[in-house]
Amino acid sequence: MKGVRLAGIARDSVTDGPGLRLVLFTQGCDHRCPGCHNPATWDFAGGTLYSLPELYALVKRYGYVDGVTFSGGEPFYQAAPLAALGRKIKKEGYTIVTYTGYFFEEILQRSGGERAFGDLLRVTDLLIDGPFLQEAKEASLAFRGSANQRLIDVPGSLKAGRATLLQRMI
Ligand code: SF4
Repeated sequence: MKGVRLAGIARDSVTDGPGLRLVLFTQGCDHRCPGCHNPATWDFAGGTLYSLPELYALVKRYGYVDGVTFSGGEPFYQAAPLAALGRKIKKEGYTIVTYTGYFFEEILQRSGGERAFGDLLRVTDLLIDGPFLQEAKEASLAFRGSANQRLIDVPGSLKAGRATLLQRMI
């Protein structure tokens, strides 16, 4: 687990999940959604590699935020180090929002064979799932680009054994 390859970092975001958030934009994605807002994140060799101690120090530097958002790129391609970072910072009271081009059900299914998928899912409070669909694009949606994307309450969904939409903000 060398660290996390990032395309960029945004601080004080109010658009990438509830409250004030530090956003880590992961590098690498092969969902290739037409109309993707950030195709520069697709190249798996691009971006900058950060060690976990460097990322932890970054979270502490902006420690006044409500939580951290793992966006993309596709965070689940770097699920193991993000899960490790998430576990550490959740213990300090931060919430975790994870964006993914996968569906919750696919992640759950894959987590049987790829432990890290399940690990990242379990540290996530709010999962915003599904690919960006240009035909479902809506500018007024909270925290997502297209209406097909769901705001999933992960702890509630894992308990229920099925995707449960977020009822109240974390
Ligand atoms: S999952 Fe996100 S980063 Fe990847 S192609 Fe789709 S919109 Fe772009």
